[in-house]
Amino acid sequence: MSKLPPIQEVSACPHCGNDDEFYVMQTYSGRGIYRRGFDGYVTDNSHMYDCLDAKVSKRAYCMTCDKPVAQWDENADGPHYIKQKYD
Ligand SMILES: [Zn+2]
Repeated sequence: MSKLPPIQEVSACPHCGNDDEFYVMQTYSGRGIYRRGFDGYVTDNSHMYDCLDAKVSKRAYCMTCDKPVAQWDENADGPHYIKQKYD
């Protein structure tokens, strides 16, 4: 397989043309707590995943056809893909 281009040079999937979303694989490890109320009511578990570690893939994949489309470096590329569409 030929070498994939860096993600920041890719604006669409070369296989299917999808220019909306890509994904990276994350492998999680760790342990956490899940809160429950004595009274039977649900409690706030919005931070239940904060204690997990994520190992991130070195490739980015097309959200539509699942083919690898680019190289991904979580530390270098991650900060460039956190823009908010709706504020
Ligand atoms: Zn695709």
